[in-house]
Amino acid sequence: MNQISRVRLSDKYQRQPHRTRMPLHRAVRWDPVDADPESPRPPLFVFITQNAYVRMCAHAGSDLENEVGGWMAGKYCRDSLHGTPFIVIDAVLPAVYTQQGAAHLTFTGDTQVALHNHLDAHFPDKVFLGWYHTHPRMGVFLSQWDAWLHQNFFPELWQVALVIEPHQSIGGLFIRQEDGGLDQQTYFGFYELTNRIQRSVVFWRNLRPVLDITDPYKEVSSI
Ligand SMILES: [Zn+2]
Repeated sequence: MNQISRVRLSDKYQRQPHRTRMPLHRAVRWDPVDADPESPRPPLFVFITQNAYVRMCAHAGSDLENEVGGWMAGKYCRDSLHGTPFIVIDAVLPAVYTQQGAAHLTFTGDTQVALHNHLDAHFPDKVFLGWYHTHPRMGVFLSQWDAWLHQNFFPELWQVALVIEPHQSIGGLFIRQEDGGLDQQTYFGFYELTNRIQRSVVFWRNLRPVLDITDPYKEVSSI
């Protein structure tokens, strides 16, 4: 516990968002296929670069029996025109020192120290935006333990949790509402940040692409 407290105290989160435009022109929005149109959209827009997505999927597929996971890093931003908060996940740090079992994953104190050191050394301009982990044969949700871990290590409104089920090729993001509430059963999609080739790399079967290039607030029919 001491180690964990030390890490949190020495954490130099950059809480001021970058002011920049949301990169919607380079993005494909993915929504859950069974999303309830009446359910509230999350207040945070989440962009994941194709490289980061592919890296997490590769890690997720590397062990189909045990949970694996790691942390996601990148930039916390605010749209310079509309003020909308968004994050861009563009770096993935697989956790090495974990205690893992088939239905349980935790980040040890050594993991925390290693990840913070790695971020400082290699990505000094990035912040931790959340974490990802797998649920082999269990589905996409946050367990009580997951929720506890999320609240304690990633308490900011702009920090998210990604769960991947590698057997079914499904996954989803857990994003807090404006009041801090976190629904452990309802996941969201994300914006895939494409590279110049503009070809999607997202293959999760529980998400569908949505045409949403010009107005992120407007619901449009799927393609
Ligand atoms: Zn879990």
